[in-house]
Amino acid sequence: MPSDRLETRLAHVGEDRASHSGAVVPPLYQNSLFTFESWDAIDQAFDDRVRYPIYSRGTNPTVRAVEEKMASIAGAPAARLFGSGMAAISASILHEVGPGDHVVTVRNVYGPTQNLLGRYLREKMNLETTFVDGSDPEDFERAATDRTRLFYLESPSSAVFSLQDLAAVARIARDRGIRTIVDNTWATPLFQKPLELGIDLEVHSVSKYLGGHSDLVAGAVMGSEGDVRSIAVREYELLGGIMAPFNAWLLQRSLRTLPMRMERHQASAGAVARFLESHPAISRVRWPGLASHPQHTLARRQMTGFSGLMGFTLATDDLRAIKRFFDSLRLFQRGVSWGGHESLVYAPAISYLKELPPERFDELGISLGDMRISVGLEDPGDLVADLEQALATIG
Ligand SMILES: *Cc1c(COP(=O)(O)O)cnc(C)c1O
Repeated sequence: MPSDRLETRLAHVGEDRASHSGAVVPPLYQNSLFTFESWDAIDQAFDDRVRYPIYSRGTNPTVRAVEEKMASIAGAPAARLFGSGMAAISASILHEVGPGDHVVTVRNVYGPTQNLLGRYLREKMNLETTFVDGSDPEDFERAATDRTRLFYLESPSSAVFSLQDLAAVARIARDRGIRTIVDNTWATPLFQKPLELGIDLEVHSVSKYLGGHSDLVAGAVMGSEGDVRSIAVREYELLGGIMAPFNAWLLQRSLRTLPMRMERHQASAGAVARFLESHPAISRVRWPGLASHPQHTLARRQMTGFSGLMGFTLATDDLRAIKRFFDSLRLFQRGVSWGGHESLVYAPAISYLKELPPERFDELGISLGDMRISVGLEDPGDLVADLEQALATIG
């Protein structure tokens, strides 16, 4: 059966129908506990507790089956699912670092990851983190010291859509014995395969495109058999940020349509990005799929497609006009997450203004008129028309 075609693997990998009365939808093991016939049977299970279900904080069959499917679509030797993207990210970072170590990451890394590295782990274990621009691989080389244990990447970044050259950064890391993790949430395992480019671990917020329906929060770590097993018996079990069986069951359903959803997100995002780029009320569009993106060549080299989250800037600093645009959107709903079936809009200035006066925006390269949209699965013509009518309110 094993096929190299993604859609076929999604339909069949990890689904042992013969053991489940031929059920076309695998059963949900909504169990905390699994029992054994004998002393010897439980003794044997303890010797390989990643494989044998004993207690669902370690292994659960529903979760295992979806992990196999996830690894298969990512071209990864192994995968482990977590209760959230942040559970996966914190487990994988803690797996790599110890007290007093040094980490290099990108300035625009996902906010909670930035807090985890730059604040929480600094306070808890004296971890030192250097934040670099990261668009030049040399940024990592220059920042590395003999205490550097980890380069933590996010490409493209979900805040500003800048990329890191994953193969080049992985080479620099290998030469120095430094480990690498990339947050691959934006591209999904369909459009970017970091492990093939030499990255050690790939982490995801499954809450975005992989879940895809805005009905679950989950995370994933993918990497070598050895790394994932080691994370499974240490951080997964000890910190307990586990994947719930029901969420894994929902995720399995989501994954069946992942390639079709991503094709549609990509096509609609392209149509929306080109419309925005041609509109006089917009000064800038940030989407790696556009030829005008400063790293478009690298984007094409290391990704095979582009997802539906993008940024753009309204060509005005008039907060009333900006709010009018934001509030006038009818199909784009106002909310912070992304990657679901529904189109969303968020204005980062809502967060910035809580900490900074607008006079300081310029020096940080941000604008009052910055918008972030997640292009969903609605008709792309309707989405463009919605943006057009909202842009007309700016005047
Ligand atoms: C949402 C997100 C996360 C965190 O994932 P949760 O599932 O919300 O914990 C991490 N990285 C990126 C890029 C994200 O967008």
